[in-house]
Amino acid sequence: MNILLIGAPGSGKGTESELLCEQNGFTQLSTGDLFRSNIANKTQLGLEAKNFMEQGLYVPDNITNGMVKEYLKTKNSNLIFDGYPRTLDQAIELDKMLLEVNKKIDHVIYIDVNDSILLNRLTGRLVCEICKRSYHIVNRKPLNDGVCDFDYGKLITRPDDQEDKIKVRLQVYNDQTKPLIDFYLQQNKLIKVDGNNKTPKEFHTAILKELGL
Ligand code: ADP
Repeated sequence: MNILLIGAPGSGKGTESELLCEQNGFTQLSTGDLFRSNIANKTQLGLEAKNFMEQGLYVPDNITNGMVKEYLKTKNSNLIFDGYPRTLDQAIELDKMLLEVNKKIDHVIYIDVNDSILLNRLTGRLVCEICKRSYHIVNRKPLNDGVCDFDYGKLITRPDDQEDKIKVRLQVYNDQTKPLIDFYLQQNKLIKVDGNNKTPKEFHTAILKELGL
């Protein structure tokens, strides 16, 4: 089963992906993480993506689609698509790429969260430099300040988690990604889940129920 998570930055896609991977045997395909690791490794693709990411803008579709196409050669089932597709062009391209290997997106989970909650989560977000797990300076503190509970990696603030960049990202999401909700509604694949006032665990339980897992 392939699942797609759609939601604004800070809606909890990454956290939910972690749980689906750890507890339900899925593998996460996060285009944001793939871009960040390309940037850290100073690849050509990383160089191309860096500028867009730092501004809070989407990386152009041809670069993003190409990166996903390469990934799908290594694995194309039991995937959680986290942060891809984010444009209509990417969604159409993904359907084609999966069709070529006789696979498809089975369910699309749309995580609905209010803007004020998103802003609070993102301005206080810390991520582990190593495993990418997310924390929050108030709501989800690590056991030891500045250090990941799982692998003791350093907790950092992502360069695009500054308020001006966050506002751009939310705007870009509203303009370019929200239309995907209709696209998947028409394909009869959309499951809307309220992500406002739930802990990650409560949210995970709600998702499993929706997926019949
Ligand atoms: P968030 O969901 O919080 O925005 P991500 O880690 O998923 O965080 O993405 C970070 C950035 O990576 C995005 O703002 C964008 O610049 C780039 N990016 C990730 N996925 C895509 C995509 N599917 N299309 C274009 N750009 C992307």
